[in-house]
Amino acid sequence: MTSTGVALVTGGNRGIGLAIAQRLREEGWSVVVGSRSGEAPDGLAAVTLDVSDPASIESAYAEIEEKNGPVALLVANAGITRDTLLMRMSDDDIDAVLQTNLGGSIRLARRAMKGMIRAKGGHIIFVGSVVWALGSGGQVNYAAAKAGLVGAARSLAREVGSRGISVNVVAPGFVETDMTAELDEGQRAAILSGIPLGRYAQPVEIADVVGFLARSTYITGAVIPVDGGLGMGH
Ligand code: NAP
Repeated sequence: MTSTGVALVTGGNRGIGLAIAQRLREEGWSVVVGSRSGEAPDGLAAVTLDVSDPASIESAYAEIEEKNGPVALLVANAGITRDTLLMRMSDDDIDAVLQTNLGGSIRLARRAMKGMIRAKGGHIIFVGSVVWALGSGGQVNYAAAKAGLVGAARSLAREVGSRGISVNVVAPGFVETDMTAELDEGQRAAILSGIPLGRYAQPVEIADVVGFLARSTYITGAVIPVDGGLGMGH
């Protein structure tokens, strides 16, 4: 199984994705950040990529393959929330979250197959969430998408394991990013009370685990929690 080459990190322009991109670069990967603006900070190579748009996935891959070579590591990190109680959730809130967080990740993985099968190896890492197993009030759409990633990863792991391709999920708990900055003090206090380590994660702590999985040679179909104990291993 390969442990260097071209790595595509979606949503790598900020938050957890940026920390992952920086860590992978430190570990010798040739990193391309997929972002809707087509830009990335910190001197990282970037490609325009909207994961909710199948045509954008195809054109981003084609551009990377032409300029950088085949993608050996896909980190499907881009994600959104549209939190509210289900009875108030609009069709658009449901569709947008499923399409971006789940549909986008599955399509990215499908596109990654071409090059990885030819190369007889590769890694796919989905960025999930602790809520896939715990559930989370106000996040029916988001938790369903994150739980779907686990089923997708395990199914694909069975399809392509014999080709030397690993497929895993990293499941963060609560991480200090723009996504959690939207929570109010009451929500933060309630969340913190359930985290044995008593704090949110920093993005680099998620990136460390992605870096580890990208070096690993005998882990597939796994969900690796990085949640301060919130999910107690699930
Ligand atoms: P964030 O700070 O809100 O950043 C989200 C990233 O996803 C941004 O780079 C954003 O790009 C990108 N993105 C959103 N929709 C996209 C689309 N359609 N196409 C391409 N890129 C898109 O979020 P984060 O906290 O870093 O979260 C990253 C991942 O970790 C997500 O999958 C999230 O569900 C997961 N996660 C986060 C936490 C947490 O506590 N923060 C916990 C568990 C899991 P733009 O700059 O263009 O908006």
